[in-house]
Amino acid sequence: MLKIDNISFSYNNKKVLKSISLNAKNTEITALLGKNGSGKTTLLKIVNKFLKADSGQVFIDNKDINYIRRKDIAKLVGYCPQQTTHVMLTVYETVLCGRIVYNKYFLSKKDREIVDKTLEFTGLKDFSHRNLNQLSGGEFQKVIIARALAQKPKILLLDEPINNLDIKSQYDMMNLILKITKELEITTVIVLHDINIASKYADRFIILNNGCVMASGNQDILTSEVIEKAFNIKVEVKYINNNSFILPAT
Ligand code: ADP
Repeated sequence: MLKIDNISFSYNNKKVLKSISLNAKNTEITALLGKNGSGKTTLLKIVNKFLKADSGQVFIDNKDINYIRRKDIAKLVGYCPQQTTHVMLTVYETVLCGRIVYNKYFLSKKDREIVDKTLEFTGLKDFSHRNLNQLSGGEFQKVIIARALAQKPKILLLDEPINNLDIKSQYDMMNLILKITKELEITTVIVLHDINIASKYADRFIILNNGCVMASGNQDILTSEVIEKAFNIKVEVKYINNNSFILPAT
């Protein structure tokens, strides 16, 4: 379980997060929504200890991350950033890199077993010997997630994992994220720009606006008023099969 309590953060005296609090539970997908620049990526980097908050606390399973060493954070938090550079590794080698956090020098048989299971679970087994530059966007994104899973995290932070994917790959990816969250009992926090996909897959929603939590809760918070204020666009919300669909009201 992830608890963020009253976090504030500034870059060079410019405040970008103001008293952010939220709870995210295991086996649930929490969607972090908000327009560009609202502070979503910064918040993920604080949870992953890439950045240190000016004030406030982050708890993972009731433990304050200030008291967890950076290398131990990687055993609790799998972070999949927006931009990842391609290096000349195979899929297998990349996922194996996720195990480095547990070892100083040598990777064990257990590490390789975990990698094999992760490749199987994420549907990447047949790609394991491919180089990263021989993958489609969707396959590459899966590898990044598989590398994070090989760390055996309790929390998975995904920053826009479906950007640049075609519609089928977007749904394949979201179905995989759902399976990971439920079957591996992970606390997933995901930054998404597609509110309709968020509404279909997420259990909870946090909407950031200018570095503040503008709204949080279940699907009921996705009202036209909230979305209009957060994204500066007039919308209509329609309910179909218990899902809300947000359409521009032009
Ligand atoms: P989002 O993920 O919602 O698009 P970010 O967390 O990336 O928002 O950015 C929040 C604000 O912080 C933006 O105004 C952005 O320009 C600023 N920002 C992000 N990274 C840096 C940085 N390294 N140095 C200075 N300002 C930054």
